[in-house]
Amino acid sequence: MSESLRYQPQAIEEHWQRHWQTLGAGDTPPEAAGGRKPFYALSMFPYPSGNLHMGHVRNYVITDVIARVQRMRGHNVLHPMGWDAFGLPAENAAIERGVDPGAWTDRNIASMRAQLQRLGLSIDWDREVATCHSDYYRWTQWLFLQFLDSGLAYQKEATVNWDPVDQTVLANEQVDSEGRSWRSGALVEKRKLRQWFLKITAYASQLLDDLPKLEGWPERVRTMQANWIGRSTGAEISFPVVDADGADTAERITVFTTRPDTIFGASYVVLAPEHPLVAVLTTADQSTPVASFCDLVSRQSEQERTADDKPKRGVPIGARVRNPANGELIPLWIADYVLADYGTGAVMGVPAHDQRDFLFARQYGLPVRQVIRPVAGDEQSCAGSAWTEAGVLIHSGRFDGLASDEARGAITAAAAAEGWGQARTTFRLRDWLISRQRYWGCPIPVIHCDSCGVVPVPAEQLPVELPRDVAFSGKGGSPLAQLESWWRVACPCCGSPARRETDTMDTFMCSSWYFLRYSDPHNTALPFSRALVDSWLPVDQYVGGIEHAILHLLYSRFFTKVLRDRGLLGFDEPFTRLLTQGMVQGITYKNPNTGRYIAPAEIADPADPRDPATGEALEVFYEKMSKSKHNGVDPAVVIDRYGADTARMFILFKAPPEKDLEWDDADVEGQFRFLQRLCRLVESAVARGLSLATPTDPAMDPAGLTPVDRELRRAVHTAIAAVSEDLEGDLQFNTAVAELMKLSNAMGEHLAGASAPVACEALRSLLLLLAPFAPHLAEELWMQLGGAGSSIHGQSWPAVDTTALVRDTVPLVIQVKGKVRGNLEVPADADRATLEKLALESDIAAKWLEGRAPSRVIVVPGRLVNLVP
Ligand SMILES: [Zn+2]
Repeated sequence: MSESLRYQPQAIEEHWQRHWQTLGAGDTPPEAAGGRKPFYALSMFPYPSGNLHMGHVRNYVITDVIARVQRMRGHNVLHPMGWDAFGLPAENAAIERGVDPGAWTDRNIASMRAQLQRLGLSIDWDREVATCHSDYYRWTQWLFLQFLDSGLAYQKEATVNWDPVDQTVLANEQVDSEGRSWRSGALVEKRKLRQWFLKITAYASQLLDDLPKLEGWPERVRTMQANWIGRSTGAEISFPVVDADGADTAERITVFTTRPDTIFGASYVVLAPEHPLVAVLTTADQSTPVASFCDLVSRQSEQERTADDKPKRGVPIGARVRNPANGELIPLWIADYVLADYGTGAVMGVPAHDQRDFLFARQYGLPVRQVIRPVAGDEQSCAGSAWTEAGVLIHSGRFDGLASDEARGAITAAAAAEGWGQARTTFRLRDWLISRQRYWGCPIPVIHCDSCGVVPVPAEQLPVELPRDVAFSGKGGSPLAQLESWWRVACPCCGSPARRETDTMDTFMCSSWYFLRYSDPHNTALPFSRALVDSWLPVDQYVGGIEHAILHLLYSRFFTKVLRDRGLLGFDEPFTRLLTQGMVQGITYKNPNTGRYIAPAEIADPADPRDPATGEALEVFYEKMSKSKHNGVDPAVVIDRYGADTARMFILFKAPPEKDLEWDDADVEGQFRFLQRLCRLVESAVARGLSLATPTDPAMDPAGLTPVDRELRRAVHTAIAAVSEDLEGDLQFNTAVAELMKLSNAMGEHLAGASAPVACEALRSLLLLLAPFAPHLAEELWMQLGGAGSSIHGQSWPAVDTTALVRDTVPLVIQVKGKVRGNLEVPADADRATLEKLALESDIAAKWLEGRAPSRVIVVPGRLVNLVP
């Protein structure tokens, strides 16, 4: 290889990135310019940690390929980027290092933007948003006021994690598995504080019922959302509390059950330890065990209380209730597995037909009474466990003999008629707690006045800006609450002294509408105009990690539906198609005895990896890249060494986009060599004097072409058809890259022998197909060959000429007595008689028939001939 053939990506990539910037290649055309259809390609925006990792690279490269292909297909493409920029890391940096969270975040954004730009992404940077900038969060506040005005934002007491040493609220992820604060190490307490909620439960049915419409989403994401929303239909049943003599009192305990057919088997009722009636109903002799049990439970997390593999604990509170179905008096308990803010905070215990109740009853000696008989008649079936399947009712009075499915309706109807119950649908989904006692978040724009109550900050006074002169100690609650000069304000209604809300919003609020803002990012009168948001949205293709399958996507869907109902936009769902890309995994070395992770650089012999400290043999496996496991690969290092195009090609080629990807240096090298081969191919074409400036006849007559020309054209148009198909529907970038490699092999074989027009057509098509994947090199080679326009990325996607796909000859399978004995190349247009003749004259027939004439010949045109002796 001569010196001139060396592929030097660094110089090429910088050059073309500057060129594209001058051209405004990533700029968004007006949504309907030129009568073209708009296409919105969106990546989930990152948190600006300051460091771009391979997971980001994979995400944004996938979206970039989609955006580039759609532009070449003639769409007006919106491909924006922004920053999910509020959150704890910036505040922690402020506490630990005394830096200003805003300045820290802006520095990280600048650094990550520069890292992103090296990837050659066709992003419209003019539409960049950062959720921590007041020109964005002004509108997050404005949207919050829309929720408040709709009655969908409200305050109520809720249990929070309270650090008694630092005097502050902690997020769940700041409490370790032993229930201690990550900072102070103190045992975290549960405290009731007044918190802001959004009433997402008001949209639970819609969020569930619209899931089947999302046909462009992965099935598993839809299932995860459906499970999270968790609709159950059943009945609400009231159990009257009885006095010491067994007579009904005025108190009722209401439970929700999906199995009203089992009501005759209820042998106890359980309240959450936090249920308000516990204090009222506990009898004197049970008050001590009840108090100590409540104390114990208050230290447990919700997960610990409800985990399937943890034994359930409880105590009776001494009171009894009456089972309204059969009049039986049954005991009232409290137990850890019942949560106060879930459902009614009370459940009925039916040990014979619920496994958790079964285990609980067995542990505490509560009666187990079977009321559903399996249809097969085996009454022994619930001896060792609960019978939770359908069956026939027994021991259920007037309902005996009914099928359990039928009995649900019949018993619910009877309960409604007699006033002790009613049909009810409930959801697992709970309202969204959005307030945080933190500084680095979007301030909640309300003012508390003693006379007027909660007063929204008037829209013209937005944004409520975060103050910059704040002391960060990490103690004593939110820094905002300690800044009296900031929170002491006059009430906008009555003018009397009032207090600004000092809570800030959950960052998920900021990320629930950023995709709407991109449609109209510079609007200073509204978060976005109705016309622009309706013309660009819903997002045609959203790409991001599966870790956002539930909350971010659910909250964004909720926002969209609320804003639709406020008349601010005109669609039901924000994201038409969703691709959840797999993780990027790195090779990981671990000492199985010490659990220590070893950096690959410390391994002396990769063929026999050993712990450099102890000499012990190491485990080798692939795992998600992370600092602590020393298995990460820095994108900048890969780009420095091979260029962005190779990194892009490798990431796209190594695995289907939704599958996990194992980083492999040898395969990166392989993609680099492939791009090098393309350089040589073009180099030899240029040496031969070929130029893309020469016009080619678009409708090449196959009759006038040589066999080599026909062979090459078939390879070219097969590749166009295959790559086009891979980039639609399932987005199989890996097989698309494989097709490009196949095409380059065919060109290596036939290009030199092909006529100039056919060779030029092949080169043009190859570069156009390559352009979305390796945009810099495609541009470089396009220009070297004298390609049209100021950029290859302004060209149209190549079209398939189906006449070129026709083969001159096709392989014909020759069978003898049904057994495959060989293949024959035959003219593609041969008729039955010709095929039979060719088969009989073949060497295969001579060998296997040994001179005898066959008794029968079966011809399947285009496929096979079977000779039966
Ligand atoms: Zn007032």
